[in-house]
Amino acid sequence: DELDRSARVLVAGSGGLVGSAVVRALESAGFTDVVGARSAQVDLRDADAAREFVTATAPAVVVDAAARVGGIAANNARPVEFLHDNLRIQANLLDAAHAADTGRVLFLGSSCIYPKFAEQPIREDSLLTGPLEATNDAYAVAKIAGIMGVQSYRREYGRRWISAMPTNLYGPGDNFDLESSHVLPALIRKFHEAARDGSEQVVVWGTGTPRREFLHVDDLAAACVHLLEAYDDPAPINVGTGQDVTIAELASAVARTVGFTGEIVYDTSRPDGTPRKVLDVSKIEATGWKPTIGLAEGLASTYRWYLDNIVVEA
Ligand code: GDP
Repeated sequence: DELDRSARVLVAGSGGLVGSAVVRALESAGFTDVVGARSAQVDLRDADAAREFVTATAPAVVVDAAARVGGIAANNARPVEFLHDNLRIQANLLDAAHAADTGRVLFLGSSCIYPKFAEQPIREDSLLTGPLEATNDAYAVAKIAGIMGVQSYRREYGRRWISAMPTNLYGPGDNFDLESSHVLPALIRKFHEAARDGSEQVVVWGTGTPRREFLHVDDLAAACVHLLEAYDDPAPINVGTGQDVTIAELASAVARTVGFTGEIVYDTSRPDGTPRKVLDVSKIEATGWKPTIGLAEGLASTYRWYLDNIVVEA
């Protein structure tokens, strides 16, 4: 159903890559009462703080884009934080949204919730059919618990809450820190700095053979607005492009984007992670949404954002 454009929408995690894009998408869809919550403003790991903030805000709609996130190295090194911070953030937020009688909640998970050797492209119904990838299993278990939280509130209290599972995301506002980021922003920075310094080599982690799917965060944000109006089911729904590339192909595309012409070398002492991760997106496409930003275009605009916002401040 069409949402009232004057309904108050709370975007938890509005300081992040996803939350900031969701705020932009809601505003451009005509929503006039969008309220953000950034981690510096309210620590959603604190149950009392979360409940106080959400009940005072009294949102009709909540989008949960608040999470501790990171790339393969960060997830691998700090599983306790990825498990417990995410369990706390989402449980506190769902409980607070219930206390505030919030009619619609969109919980955002991740494609890493699916089994490591799930049949590709990954259908939603492969959830919990096999073991997880070890480099991000703690994060994945937390996100699976979030889906269960939404389903439990639906079952026990009749809440029309939903969960969406985005694939690997990138775009303006991304984290470009080399140890904690995901691959795409890390490669933009590595190739940019190599081109700038005239280095002959860029080191890419792993073998270059894993396959990943990349969705521009503005496409995800548009999907979030769409799903709040078009989707009402306990099952999670995938959000992606359905297309993947190898890490080696991504590295070449980033090299082209930034104008690096040297050599790409692979550090196989770094983990590859899951061999392939591409979502089956037939379910969301059947609801009338599809992505609009191709990888080459998205890389170019994200590189421009990096130059304008990160490099200038350095
Ligand atoms: P994942 O999708 O959960 O595995 O997370 P990442 O985005 O961190 O990594 C995706 C793939 O890119 C893995 O195979 C990494 O080893 C590989 N990769 C190559 N170079 C880098 C890099 O500089 N940073 C990161 N984070 N990953 C890299």
